[in-house]
Amino acid sequence: MFSYRHAFHAGSHADILKHLTLIHLVEYLQEKLGALTIVDTHAGAGIYSLTDGFATVSKEADGGIFRLIKYADQCKASGIGIGIQNYLDCIQADNTAEQITLYPGSPFILARMLRPQDRLKLFELHPKEIDILRHNVNQLKQVKQIDVYAEDSFARLKGLLPPPSRRGLVLIDPSYEDKQDYRYLETAMAEALERFATGCYAIWYPILSRRESASLPDRMKKIAASHKRSWLHTELRVENAPGERRLQASGMFVINPPWTLEKHLSEALPTLVKALSLDSGAEYLLKSFEAKP
Ligand code: SAM
Repeated sequence: MFSYRHAFHAGSHADILKHLTLIHLVEYLQEKLGALTIVDTHAGAGIYSLTDGFATVSKEADGGIFRLIKYADQCKASGIGIGIQNYLDCIQADNTAEQITLYPGSPFILARMLRPQDRLKLFELHPKEIDILRHNVNQLKQVKQIDVYAEDSFARLKGLLPPPSRRGLVLIDPSYEDKQDYRYLETAMAEALERFATGCYAIWYPILSRRESASLPDRMKKIAASHKRSWLHTELRVENAPGERRLQASGMFVINPPWTLEKHLSEALPTLVKALSLDSGAEYLLKSFEAKP
């Protein structure tokens, strides 16, 4: 426990899928004026250097954000599509025009999107990450709208639901370092839907050979069905190299997705596959289910 540091993975293909989806969810939910409460259950450090420290060891941004920016440059004449462009603009906001040296994690992406009426709640358990997160959040002009908790979010989530305005987005992005995270996630999701069935829940997961990871989407479908909730399931694979230990694919499972999300992803995913593919095994998946009221 606690060997996971997100800086090793900042700006990877998995971050791209997660953050591109997240940005669209916030944009959609902010179409209404009512206050939005966003809970980021697994926050990490908030923002990461891509030029020194852990990120330079793993170099995952090379196959992720840097590769995507290069591809976007090649498509300058025709444009890369509004969804990916919005995502790139968000990343660019923390950087100079000339160079990408910082990668904003979900807390920074979300913080910068807050309107005055919105609130952001961040959870982080790692003893070092929580200090870095607090330090980083204190630099933000939105700091007064943000609560940072050094607590186990799986245990605390239900206590925050429903939010006072009954408009909420929950990002659940565990490291799955502890195999039990899959079980904790299920319990937390069942409890969360019990208390706040209409909330929007976005769950990220790695696609690994382990049984718990392979069965996660079906388990989430079951939980959504037992509460008569709609869902959207998407995956992005950048390579198919059996035996390689690096992460080759990841997924997002969204409960109560906005009706616009499927179209948004159906436009972005083919481009992401083209931009990020490392071999012919690159592909995406996009499925959804609309629950009848
Ligand atoms: N959401 C971040 C982003 O997109 O930039 C990345 C988060 S990283 C995948 C997962 C984080 O969750 C790690 O920093 C880890 O220390 C933290 N964590 C693990 N278990 C936790 C728990 N039960 N409650 C809160 N944080 C936890």
